[in-house]
Amino acid sequence: MDEKLAKALLKIRNNHLDAVYFFTDLKTGERFVEENCCLPEELSAEDSDILLLLYNGPFVVAEDMGKIINFYERIMQGTKEPICMEEIETHFHMKNRNGEIKLFSLSCYLETDAEGLIISYVGRLRILKQKELEEREILSQFSNDKNPAIFIKRIAAFQAANPFRKYAYIQFDIRHFRYINENYGTEAGDKILQYINDTLKVLCDDNHLFCRLTADLYEVVTYYNSREEILEFVEMLDSRLHRCGDIRFNMSYGIKVVDGTDVRYRKSGDEAGLAREYVKKAIQMKVAFFEDSLLEKIVKSAEIEEIEDEALQNDEFKVYLQPKYYYNGETAAIVGAEALVRWIDSQGIVKSPAEFIPVFEENGFILELDQFMWESVCKILRSWIDAGIHPIPISVNVSRSYLKRYDIVGFLKNLIAKYRIPIELLQLELTETADSPETILYANKFKEAGFTLLMDDFGAGYSSLSMLKDTPFDVLKMDRSFLGKCLDDDHGRKLVSHIISMSNDLGLEVVAEGVETKDVADFLCENGCNISQGYYFSRPVSVEEFQRIWDI
Ligand code: C2E
Ligand code: MG
Ligand code: MG
Repeated sequence: MDEKLAKALLKIRNNHLDAVYFFTDLKTGERFVEENCCLPEELSAEDSDILLLLYNGPFVVAEDMGKIINFYERIMQGTKEPICMEEIETHFHMKNRNGEIKLFSLSCYLETDAEGLIISYVGRLRILKQKELEEREILSQFSNDKNPAIFIKRIAAFQAANPFRKYAYIQFDIRHFRYINENYGTEAGDKILQYINDTLKVLCDDNHLFCRLTADLYEVVTYYNSREEILEFVEMLDSRLHRCGDIRFNMSYGIKVVDGTDVRYRKSGDEAGLAREYVKKAIQMKVAFFEDSLLEKIVKSAEIEEIEDEALQNDEFKVYLQPKYYYNGETAAIVGAEALVRWIDSQGIVKSPAEFIPVFEENGFILELDQFMWESVCKILRSWIDAGIHPIPISVNVSRSYLKRYDIVGFLKNLIAKYRIPIELLQLELTETADSPETILYANKFKEAGFTLLMDDFGAGYSSLSMLKDTPFDVLKMDRSFLGKCLDDDHGRKLVSHIISMSNDLGLEVVAEGVETKDVADFLCENGCNISQGYYFSRPVSVEEFQRIWDI
């Protein structure tokens, strides 16, 4: 061991007599662990590789395991990539030698070579005392990493030290953090926040300043050479920020890049925040850079939010119906319809659902809109029945976003009772997603109530074959983009053909969406799928137009 380390060790030892110290030379493999009586015996052999034992072994409580993994992997990464850190620290719960669970502090003082790679470390592992726990609690409320004002000062100094570099402001928060708190309790929510804080302490070195701005909102400021480098860092963060104990969560990241001479620190952070907000509205997005084009989209969303209530009152939302046809290769007959919303504003401009549904799903207005759509469809069905027309079923879209919070089954049951609609006429389209086991739960509830269930957008990316086994759907709607992709080659055509025959075997009806040509309609019909919905037959049309083409 070199003299410098021996001195450091002695200094630390004198300061903290209650701790266990260990040393590892990563080059020679030389190791030693000081004699101690607080660690479980298995960790206390003279040449134990304590970090590796903690990383691999059963010592640490399950919910703190993520912290140890992050800690260990960060050090290992530091042996391959330069690290700009002298000390790394984390806290975790583990049994002491007497079998009692205690909160331990683990820190390593890193020795790096001329290139900044870790070559050895002196570690310290100790049980925190009650007083320290309390102090830690108080300190953590006021420490730099939770004080935005101090954070701005640190950023200013950071950029001033190197104004010719480019800097990235990365802001991130937890998706649906409110629901995590509601579902698992605020204590679990607090644990996740503590975990994120601990992880950031481990991952962020002197070139990555970080701060917890508010509740679950964090910001990292760093300099960078290329966008790939920033994305790599975000990837690395994200690979560690998705699980705490048994609870899984997802983060959304927004990034703003600036020159080192740009001193609008708060504005840069705010713009990263706008990009993050934007990411949250898009279901399949995780990261976005703040750019002018993004600003335009954000402004558009804000405009939509401002006028949505008025639009509903002014009757600007209209039910359009797209017919579903039974096609036998020669003749086609309308056997049903899907209700799709159209927003026709006061100037007669038609907005497409792609523009406003994601905004409504994010701000919650989708529930009001859907309730309006469902009721409108009930009115249409009632008018047909009253006019003595033999009615055909109409399917409505049910968004996943409110399923958890509202009694949709109850609402729909009341609605069909109010308009005296036979339950088989109001069909429900649900989109399956890989990350929502709840869909199965709600699908079952709808089913028990007697509704016909359609799985929307099958093949669009999320739906998996296994859900066919678990969920009680009656109809599978093959997605337009999936069909489009498949029908281009032989292999894809075989796949579609097999999906149809498999579904038919399972007693599932298949409806093809987005059928645009006769060739596709014929192919589907030859392979056992007779019901199609698509521009080849008809676009979504107004109710009057629908009744005209239906010829009633
Ligand atoms: P979806 O439920 O999968 O509806 C089918 C979409 O495919 C409709 O788009 C329809 O116009 C379009 N489509 C049908 N045939 C063809 C075709 O041959 N070619 C092409 N290119 N497109 C075709 P739309 O009306 O723009 O709706 C988009 C999505 O917005 C819907 O997808 C649905 O997820 C959502 N949406 C629409 N209306 C409502 C609503 O009232 N409530 C809710 N929650 N979502 C809705
Ligand atoms: Mg649909
Ligand atoms: Mg669809």
